[in-house]
Amino acid sequence: MRAFTKVLLASICVAYLAVKWTSPWFDAESLKGARVLVTGASTGIGEQMAYHYARFGAQIVITARREKVLQQVVEKCLSLGAQKALYIAADMSSESEPAQVVDFALEKLGGLDYLVLNHIGPSPFSMWTGDVDHTRWLMNVNFFSYIQMAWRGLAALEQSRGSLVIVSSLLGKMASPFVAPYTSTKFALNGFFGSLQHELAMNKSNVSVSICTLGLIDTDSAMEKVKGVISVPAYPASDAALNIIITGATRQLDLFYPWFTYVVAACKDMFPSVTNFIIQNSFTYSP
Ligand code: NDP
Repeated sequence: MRAFTKVLLASICVAYLAVKWTSPWFDAESLKGARVLVTGASTGIGEQMAYHYARFGAQIVITARREKVLQQVVEKCLSLGAQKALYIAADMSSESEPAQVVDFALEKLGGLDYLVLNHIGPSPFSMWTGDVDHTRWLMNVNFFSYIQMAWRGLAALEQSRGSLVIVSSLLGKMASPFVAPYTSTKFALNGFFGSLQHELAMNKSNVSVSICTLGLIDTDSAMEKVKGVISVPAYPASDAALNIIITGATRQLDLFYPWFTYVVAACKDMFPSVTNFIIQNSFTYSP
């Protein structure tokens, strides 16, 4: 590696650590009684977020499609210390249900302090073969429902000086093979909510927007997809969930978890051919 590249990478790491060390202190007490809506909370990172919020004594509404599983998560949340835990089953591909979920949370909790948008629809991990209908459907689930829910909850968040937390991905900053529909939805989220961050700040809004960029996390669905195809380390869902919650509670603009996703995202525009080579050769694939 040339000296210039080494100095550049070292500078990026130092800058990242400096930002992290000076970031606001997390006060767990601030979440006691907080009114929280978490989507995609029947499993994976969303389920882990529900348990963390419960331990902090929050009042939680969770949502996903599978009612039976939601029921079990709610029971566990109550046993972990949630002041309130309720669920509403909903399909985020529907035009009306995303807004109904927000209305349900506002009614049951009497307002909202945190709106955590985390759900994703299932999508194949394979080469693009022209299925536009699936991409359109996924866009409804992973993107349009997010902007619909954000708009529906914004007035309540404004009133409570609340936070909007968007769970995104490194694949929303860096395209990768086998996930064209998914990666499109995450790029869309980053673009839309990045724009909203500016507009709210320019309007001196009370609402903070946190965009969370995650690397590979060890949820069942993710592990099932990458099994035998790529071998990169997967980070624990519970830790990812806690980092997302802290990012929202401390009103930070973004989270990069694990930390090196920041470096990867920063490097990919600076060294496109190197990153492309690494990406394409990190998969087990023969045409
Ligand atoms: P999971 O696949 O484990 O969970 C997805 C959740 O969304 C489930 O609760 C599922 O519940 C719900 N869901 C699926 N389809 C719908 C639908 N149509 N309507 C409503 N809810 C639906 O995801 P992860 O926990 O792995 O990921 C969570 C977030 O983290 C996502 O935004 C993802 O992009 C992001 N992320 C994850 C990474 C990873 O490696 N795991 C890496 C980078 C980002 P149900 O089936 O009951 O509806």
